Amino acid sequence: MKRLVSLLLSCLLLSSCGTIVTPAKTPPEHLVSEAPPAQVLPAPGEMPELLPDSQEAGGENASEPSLEEGGGTPVETLPEPQRVVDPTRPMVALTFDDGPHAVYTDQILDILEEHGAVATFFEVARNLPKAPEAVRRAADMGCEIGSHSYRHANLGKMDQAAQQADQAAADALFQEVLGTTPALLRPPYGSMNKTLKTTSGRSIVTWSIDTEDWRSKDAEKVVAGVENAGNLDGQVILLHSIYESTVAATEVLVPWLLEQGYQLVTVSELIQLRFGDEVEPNRTYNYDYFRFQVPPLPAETAPAAA
Ligand SMILES: [Zn+2]
Repeated sequence: MKRLVSLLLSCLLLSSCGTIVTPAKTPPEHLVSEAPPAQVLPAPGEMPELLPDSQEAGGENASEPSLEEGGGTPVETLPEPQRVVDPTRPMVALTFDDGPHAVYTDQILDILEEHGAVATFFEVARNLPKAPEAVRRAADMGCEIGSHSYRHANLGKMDQAAQQADQAAADALFQEVLGTTPALLRPPYGSMNKTLKTTSGRSIVTWSIDTEDWRSKDAEKVVAGVENAGNLDGQVILLHSIYESTVAATEVLVPWLLEQGYQLVTVSELIQLRFGDEVEPNRTYNYDYFRFQVPPLPAETAPAAA
């Protein structure tokens, strides 16, 4: 409850300079099944009553007295922690490839959790046994888990049989760790062919902002690259969860993006809530899609030009 209220408050505080507009008609129903779906911001008249201690917004480590002690609402009836996404405000999807990593995945999750944010993790399936708990934690937090192939394969150079063998091997591990298989596939190197695009049965997602964190391994360069990339609304940022420098960059970027007025959402949330589109199998969501097909926002909620 604390978390729900504080997240609602965070959202309210962030949007207080803009108008809270009627939510999108379609709630997100096709998100990763085990994750609590984000809520679309309700209309103003429907906002739940908020606790007075608004300074607690965003601080989930706050130590308030437990509801159990005061004989308040029984804990069992409290809702799951939920985020609120306002479809009339700018959104960004952070994506982390090549994990999970035994140390850095959890550190990235700590940062996201601290700020009530989520991201999408495109995991290499054979890495899943390195940090299965971290992957389950990510899913429980509402992060989205996509596939990055079984062994970081160059899927674009494979025939259909080889692609399907890779996918089957990956799915078996995702099923074992998460109890589900990913709807999203990010082909390693962005390499794909027509066969993959039309027969994988997955939604293929690339990116629109490449931080080249793997190349520089320099947190300051990664941060500067994002901060100087212009308007990030509707964009998908490519990072990798296997570098300490990327964790350091994430620690700066998450609060910076929130301060700029961006909501941090999963890729599926971005497609559904910002683009008003469906996340469909055998469809590719690539640079051109995120860069050039993002619908305009109401002028008063657009971020300040970078
Ligand atoms: Zn990769």
